[in-house]
Amino acid sequence: MRIGIVSDVHSNLPALTAVLQAMGEVDALWSLGDIVGYGPYPNECIELLRERRCLAIPGNHDWGCAGKIALDDFNVDARWACRWSQDAVEPGNMEYLASLPLTLTTGDFTLAHGSPHEPIWEYMAYPSTARLSFHYFASRYCLVGHTHVPLVFLDAGAQAETLHPKPNSLVQLDETRAIINPGSVGQPRDGNPEAAYGLLDTDSWQVEFRRAAYDVAAIQVRMQDLGFPERLIKRLSYGW
Ligand SMILES: [Zn+2]
Repeated sequence: MRIGIVSDVHSNLPALTAVLQAMGEVDALWSLGDIVGYGPYPNECIELLRERRCLAIPGNHDWGCAGKIALDDFNVDARWACRWSQDAVEPGNMEYLASLPLTLTTGDFTLAHGSPHEPIWEYMAYPSTARLSFHYFASRYCLVGHTHVPLVFLDAGAQAETLHPKPNSLVQLDETRAIINPGSVGQPRDGNPEAAYGLLDTDSWQVEFRRAAYDVAAIQVRMQDLGFPERLIKRLSYGW
């Protein structure tokens, strides 16, 4: 089976469209949370993923938008974008965001936004957090987002070994348990502005860490027109 994995779309329709096109035909599409927040196209992104029958879990921005968590823990720009999204998201799409299951397990994979331990908020950026997380899911592999940085943590017993997959490279999975982050579609933070996504092949057990170029200037113009904070507009140019 070929499975497309998207995470942290963040209402970036040009990036999501480019990713879905570059991905080609897949047997399934999985989303690891934060469909909305930061960007100007929340309804379009939700609807596109729903049309594709995407298997999805919520992120902190989805829950913030849907009113399921307080916005006090968000930074100033994120909070602004959350409030903007609360006004923009249509009632049916809001219900969809509110109804997503916190985590999902399908076959050998658990899907959690931040970490399997604290799915909504915990950032898994370091092996120390990853090492503890291996105790909180029962499947062989776990897919996460939230940090917006492509990474793989391998369960190496007392520690977690970290892989930093290069753009458009493959990681071969084996019996070692692993936590996999495909990076962010809509707001990459690894210094590469191209949209990041994953392509999983469950016949060869390979994960491809892919990038897709998209029209960054087009979304920036849209954000400018809508009065989005300057910092949110600029960071898309740098992938940071
Ligand atoms: Zn995010």
